[in-house]
Amino acid sequence: MALVVQKYGGTSVGDPDRIRNVAKRVIATHDAGNQVVVCVSAMSGETNQLVDLAEQLGGERPDPREYDVLVSTGEQKTIALLSMAIHQLGRDAKSFTGSQMGMQTDSDHSKARIVDIDCSRLRKVLDEGAIAVIAGFQGVDPEGNITTLGRGGSDTSAVAVACALEADVCEIYTDVDGVYTADPRVVSGAKKLGSVSFDEMLEMASLGAKVLQIRSVKFAKRYGLPIHVRSSFKSDEGTWVTREEDVMERLVVSGVTHNLNEAKIRVKGVEDHPGIASKLFKPLSDAGIQIDMIVQNLSSEGTTDMTFTVPRAEYKKAVEIANAAAGEMGASEVEGDDAIAKISIVGLGMQDHAGVATRMFTTLANESINIQLISTSEIKISVVIEEKYAELALRALHAEFVEDGAAEPSPE
Ligand code: ADP
Ligand code: ASP
Ligand code: MG
Repeated sequence: MALVVQKYGGTSVGDPDRIRNVAKRVIATHDAGNQVVVCVSAMSGETNQLVDLAEQLGGERPDPREYDVLVSTGEQKTIALLSMAIHQLGRDAKSFTGSQMGMQTDSDHSKARIVDIDCSRLRKVLDEGAIAVIAGFQGVDPEGNITTLGRGGSDTSAVAVACALEADVCEIYTDVDGVYTADPRVVSGAKKLGSVSFDEMLEMASLGAKVLQIRSVKFAKRYGLPIHVRSSFKSDEGTWVTREEDVMERLVVSGVTHNLNEAKIRVKGVEDHPGIASKLFKPLSDAGIQIDMIVQNLSSEGTTDMTFTVPRAEYKKAVEIANAAAGEMGASEVEGDDAIAKISIVGLGMQDHAGVATRMFTTLANESINIQLISTSEIKISVVIEEKYAELALRALHAEFVEDGAAEPSPE
């Protein structure tokens, strides 16, 4: 008997018919002799509506504790509805909120981290032969407060539970039939990958491919648990996210991603001496703002410019903090731009091929797209460009690196 964890995203449970369809799939897996834990998201659009409601109240940011009480309600609806649908088909199922299923987190509301999972209640239900239906995205902190794990967090709930239960597989059912070489809704020629390594998927998720929340991939990698991303509307094999040695293809570029959620800040005319970076970045990190790319220009006449990117949602706050720090450092000016896009190419095969960066830059130059910032790691290259060129850049890079006959670099 295998233990299977299945996660169904918002579109997959978007209306009663779809919930019934999910119930049938879950039952088929259960009746094939497996123990099944099903993790569900809120119905599509529901979490956004809840966030909107809070915004309609106006005023300052909502209280973080109450925000989590509000946005976690979407998942509570779907666990009840799915359990009812399973009952109607004659099988036993029990629903669990995050707190009831032992999903213990820290108290960092709206981006809480999982600390531990007490699986005893889930095990009991499974041992009794029932299907456990759990709410994704939510947990409980040590004081008993409801917490949530960040947008897209049901993926992480499902994978973390699968790791804690030592499940055989975690299946992520979504509205596409696997992980593609680019977002298939933006790049029509995107190709489905048969398998992709944890490290490539980590990069793709952190660089904008929202098909899996990044933390879910971190859990899977740490525990060596394969994730199978597949469609809830078809029965075809999807994409296996797995260990590098189990990946069949070794593409130069397995994914081209875009991220429109960042903004750029430049502090000009900073005196170039030891300690300036910490003077600027410490107040930003103290305010909980995560910095992504950082570029420091070569100094000229003793001063330099520092440019960095921050999450777009924190742009205004970051500009205020940078202005204050700039004042203290005697910098001449702070400039900001939130109409940027980060475009990245990711692939294990990049390590073995020289000239990938040059090909990337040439492709963008051929489209007259100016590169503002660059950052690289062993298996990825990212560039920041003007937001309005994001789709053009994505398509051009996908054509260059992924589409027909583009797997190998052209001879120099
Ligand atoms: P769910 O509600 O099931 O969690 P999401 O909307 O969070 O689904 O994630 C699925 C979406 O991710 C797809 O509809 C697709 O537009 C997007 N996506 C972005 N990049 C990729 C990619 N490389 N491969 C597949 N889907 C991607
Ligand atoms: N419902 C939550 C969201 O929309 C969590 C999830 O769907 O994974 O972000
Ligand atoms: Mg999602």
